[in-house]
Amino acid sequence: MNAALLSLKNISMEYSNFIAVDDLNLDIKKGEFISLMGPSGCGKSTTLRMMAGLDNPTSGALYLDGESQLEVPTEKRGMPMVWQNFALFPFLNVQKNIEFPLKMQGVPSEARSKKAAEWIERMGLTEFAKRNISQLSGGQRQRVALARALVTEPRILLLDEPLSALDSHLRIKMQTELVRLHKELGITFIYVTHSQSEAFTMSDRVVIMNQGKVQQIGTPKQIYRAPNNAFVAEFIGMNNLIPGAVLRLEDKTAEIRTDLGIFKARSFVGAQKDTPSKLVIAADCIHLDGSGEQKISGKISGEEFVGSVITLFIELKNGQEFKVQKQQHEVESLNLKYGADLTLSWNAENAFLLAS
Ligand code: ADP
Ligand code: MG
Repeated sequence: MNAALLSLKNISMEYSNFIAVDDLNLDIKKGEFISLMGPSGCGKSTTLRMMAGLDNPTSGALYLDGESQLEVPTEKRGMPMVWQNFALFPFLNVQKNIEFPLKMQGVPSEARSKKAAEWIERMGLTEFAKRNISQLSGGQRQRVALARALVTEPRILLLDEPLSALDSHLRIKMQTELVRLHKELGITFIYVTHSQSEAFTMSDRVVIMNQGKVQQIGTPKQIYRAPNNAFVAEFIGMNNLIPGAVLRLEDKTAEIRTDLGIFKARSFVGAQKDTPSKLVIAADCIHLDGSGEQKISGKISGEEFVGSVITLFIELKNGQEFKVQKQQHEVESLNLKYGADLTLSWNAENAFLLAS
């Protein structure tokens, strides 16, 4: 017996001469908040559409609670979808939009309005109940779309970049609302996004995709601290990668020769001696006070300030740019100047090799 609520087995979607989703395997647990993340065109929406039954895979199987879904039409799968462009009915007011799926299910009028009223209140839409969709802001529209999807009490909610049409302030506010809803309702959220901050803030697990293939599945922390391959390390940002060739491989440590010198590193997923590889050092594992064992020098070429955290951009001798992430107060106390020479350092235990 498979413990997964929703199970995708060797799912592929092939268009005439293009594979949009390539042999995807994924088990989603009941109550999980899982995100599919990856660059534009990597197959996220296609995967979600196949779950919803809007598209059928060219091969593979899809199980809900152990039952094959490929013959089950969209409306019977009970996995409503929330879209980036909201996809509300412009000719219906807020209340009628929210009632619509219940009407389709044949719920009597009185029960429908009662249920819709509950969701209108829950989503803070009471004063807009009789308004037309065109008279609502983006955030209000997205709350209507969420209410319309949730009013039927589905077991799974599918969300395709639902926040990307909103401004950044509202996006953060809606993230909090989504997390709260997910907790309160205990239903499974499957969330598509290209935004790392959205995926990492809200999800229990994240699936990183590229070119139709799953690259890594893990908790945000696993993906951040232990990327599987160079694509993941690069895609999630805030990692520094130096290409080189593996010089020495021992039980727990390795050495890599790069055009910036020879460095020691921990672990080596897929690395082999004399093969091209990449040394990975997370931006927040780099010291500015020279206290790490491995050293490299460069010049400050820029900075990016986000709240209490600052990212420094350091130009290395070979022209490569390194990112260093520090607390603002720590950087301030060092009194750094643009263009000044700087020694970056890290400990070998915070550096690892990935096959390139
Ligand atoms: P994402 O949501 O990750 O941005 P999609 O799943 O929408 O990506 O698309 C994945 C790939 O499949 C894209 O390259 C897209 O152009 C292609 N694709 C999507 N739908 C079709 C279609 N109907 N015919 C041909 N190619 C398609
Ligand atoms: Mg998409």
